[in-house]
Amino acid sequence: MKQRVLSGMRPTGPLHLGHLHGVLKNWLYLQEKYECFFFVADWHALTTEYENPSKIREFTKELLLEWFSVGIDPEKAVVFVQSDVKQHAELYLLLGMITPVPWLERNPTYKEMKENLKEKDLNTYGFLGYPVLQAADILIYKAQLVPVGIDQLPHLELTREIARRFNFLYQRDLFPEPQALLSEVSKIPGIDGRKMSKSYGNAIFINDPPDEVRKKILSFVTDTQRPRKSDPGDPEWRCVAFQLMKLYLSEYEKNEVVESCKKAELGCRECKQRFAEKVIASFAPIWERREKLLQQKDWYEKVKEGAKRAREIAQQTIEEVYATILSSP
Ligand code: SF4
Repeated sequence: MKQRVLSGMRPTGPLHLGHLHGVLKNWLYLQEKYECFFFVADWHALTTEYENPSKIREFTKELLLEWFSVGIDPEKAVVFVQSDVKQHAELYLLLGMITPVPWLERNPTYKEMKENLKEKDLNTYGFLGYPVLQAADILIYKAQLVPVGIDQLPHLELTREIARRFNFLYQRDLFPEPQALLSEVSKIPGIDGRKMSKSYGNAIFINDPPDEVRKKILSFVTDTQRPRKSDPGDPEWRCVAFQLMKLYLSEYEKNEVVESCKKAELGCRECKQRFAEKVIASFAPIWERREKLLQQKDWYEKVKEGAKRAREIAQQTIEEVYATILSSP
């Protein structure tokens, strides 16, 4: 029997290259190997975007369309929207009863996000409690594996602690402790060198028109110690653009860029122009699939079917949870 994997994404903006290389490429691999549940985490988006719910609705549909365009296959994975499976909220409430508040307050992301998103009022119960909702998302399907980056390990540990506490309190091994599936891809840099993110305004979106992609790639930070073409560069250690470029070039092409950059034979403008064409060519099949999907009026039916399948499993878990709590000594 295949192991079960759960992963989700918040619908807070259009997909960019950070999502594509950091998350979705991994999902494409996972959907072939495991029983995957992929969901749009619209309730999680509400924890920070509660003042803009219309945007969440808009991005939820858009995100699903983009997932399917890059190759996420609802025939291979269960794809759904979190708020279509109300059992997540029910388990969230029950797990909230047993989760000590200091566990949530010590969550490193809690303080960090409050610090980074100063323009939003995040002094809410929902924001403090979002790791409990995350735990419910995972445990409701008894997922054995959760793909995470190294920085998200504390979140998963919290889910494991909540699962352990539930099993201990009610004297039954109901919830398996999910394991991390560490993803190997490092952070994708944006055009200014910081992590690619919509909120930093440094992202290349999958649906950017070709001219926009060219413009953004041309403004990518390169080797700052190389103001002129005649200065030798150091792509591996000093060029931000090259870190992204590496994902698009063959070994031969990579070596060629490194060599000609180090010998000061290749100018940054020309190098980035070539790179932009590679990115645009890689987007072409995604755009094509998107167009086809938009012509199929019933493309969203697969998401409804996914929610139905998810609800069946989630309901079974909720019944087990009540039975466990009520029969506890
Ligand atoms: S030539 Fe290319 S690899 Fe070298 S610094 Fe410029 S953009 Fe980077």
